[in-house]
Amino acid sequence: MSIADNLHFFQTQLAGTGCRLVTVTKTHPVDKLREAYDAGARLFGENKVQEMVAKQPELPTDIEWHLIGHLQTNKVKYVAPFVHTIQSIDSLKLLQEIEKQAAKHDRVVRGLLQFHIADEETKSGLSLAEAHEILRSESYQNLRHVQLTGVMGVATNTPDQDQLRREFRELRGFFEELKAQYFAAQPEFREISMGMSADYKLAIEEGSTLIRVGRAIFGAR
Ligand SMILES: *Cc1c(COP(=O)(O)O)cnc(C)c1O
Repeated sequence: MSIADNLHFFQTQLAGTGCRLVTVTKTHPVDKLREAYDAGARLFGENKVQEMVAKQPELPTDIEWHLIGHLQTNKVKYVAPFVHTIQSIDSLKLLQEIEKQAAKHDRVVRGLLQFHIADEETKSGLSLAEAHEILRSESYQNLRHVQLTGVMGVATNTPDQDQLRREFRELRGFFEELKAQYFAAQPEFREISMGMSADYKLAIEEGSTLIRVGRAIFGAR
């Protein structure tokens, strides 16, 4: 199956679901990204700043670039001129730095709060209590150049369907709670980014609005 065939498969799977595809392009060269673009992909996900910054100028300007990997505050300045959504927001400090750098470019950068939903110590993200703390803080209220549009999570790497379902439900629950408490009047707060090559079907069943798929489109990395 070609990249185009794989993308068309996902486009068909997602038609009418309200869920969109983030094509995860990490480690792949620009010519593969162009192949994906030509087959209709417009949301691209990268996990490393350096790689995203190197590829972005080589590709059409109507691509939405999503950063899906951990972001250090000292690297925000490199993506601030063009990044569409930073899916990996895990601190107030990071939000404040995005505010500062996006303001310099007179832009509003969208962001998702990343939650820790996996039962693995290594996977990063916020707890629900930490998210409440951020959203109640005065510094958060003062942000003008970063807009939170939802939540993101990476589930445990396991074939256990019940566990995956529990983790996706937990993330959806976090989304619903935050939506009701802080974003009820903001229709833009609507994204639940969950589901990857191995578990996207379950994620869609559990209400995902953004699946992040790499291997099932480009093959093994
Ligand atoms: C690499 C990556 C993906 C895509 O994983 P695949 O198994 O290739 O589909 C999704 N989300 C994050 C955060 C990633 O780093």
